[in-house]
Amino acid sequence: MEKRDELYRGKAKSVYQTDDADRLILLFRNDTSAFDGKRIEQLDRKGMVNNKFNAFIMQKLEAAGVPTQFDKLLGDNECLVKKLDMIPVECVVRNYAAGSLVKRLGVEEGIKLEPSTFELFLKNDEKGDPFINESHVVAFGWGTAEQLVEMKKLSLKVNEVLTQLFDEAGLLLVDFKLEFGVFHGQIVLGDEFSPDGCRLWDKQTREKMDKDRFRQGLGGVIEAYEEVAKRLGVPL
Ligand code: ADP
Ligand code: UDP
Repeated sequence: MEKRDELYRGKAKSVYQTDDADRLILLFRNDTSAFDGKRIEQLDRKGMVNNKFNAFIMQKLEAAGVPTQFDKLLGDNECLVKKLDMIPVECVVRNYAAGSLVKRLGVEEGIKLEPSTFELFLKNDEKGDPFINESHVVAFGWGTAEQLVEMKKLSLKVNEVLTQLFDEAGLLLVDFKLEFGVFHGQIVLGDEFSPDGCRLWDKQTREKMDKDRFRQGLGGVIEAYEEVAKRLGVPL
């Protein structure tokens, strides 16, 4: 597989074309951003940890019947993925109240949400990733009604699979964000699943083990990611 031109440089990953028009290389950098890119720092080992974490999770999801972009690891910081036509919408599933939900509704952090909630945000840093609903997605042509049904179904399936996986590792899956794209007409899970895009709390102590350590200046960010990886059995 030959790595060609950079197609896109995001806040945390760089995306490269390959000699196969259907495949891309994702390079996980150490850049760590918060508040829609307003704060960016380099954290040693983050690219490697997230790349391997993502590979582990994507393979678990694929085995559970969720179609994913993932092909294979190419090295410490890179993996080969299917080239998707991305839907510019972030799908967020929540099991406990945290983050923007707490701010928006003034509810207490940590309240159990039953049923789990499903929310949509437009992927647009300039506008601060605004909260949108399903009719906006269809009306503005970001996705079809059928694609939305599939994205919601797959997001809830991911929640079911990963809630159990993290539970067995002594962790609560509080919430997470997914991005989907289209590959030869099929909705496929893209982007990444790592502690950068989800909230994970220790089941016993409720200690934060995810990117909130960075957002809230708690320190020990990568140490927490590595601890989560160790508990799950992710080879680093
Ligand atoms: P951001 O764009 O939010 O700054 P990243 O730094 O993670 O995020 O950049 C990765 C970019 O690559 C994102 O815009 C994401 O939508 C896109 N992307 C992720 N996976 C794929 C894929 N399989 N095919 C095409 N684009 C992808
Ligand atoms: N999230 C993300 N990227 C974003 C926004 C949110 O990965 O651009 C993740 C975030 O890490 C959390 C979940 O989505 O696990 C819900 O985030 P929330 O809406 O609470 O927003 P936040 O206040 O964290 O920005």
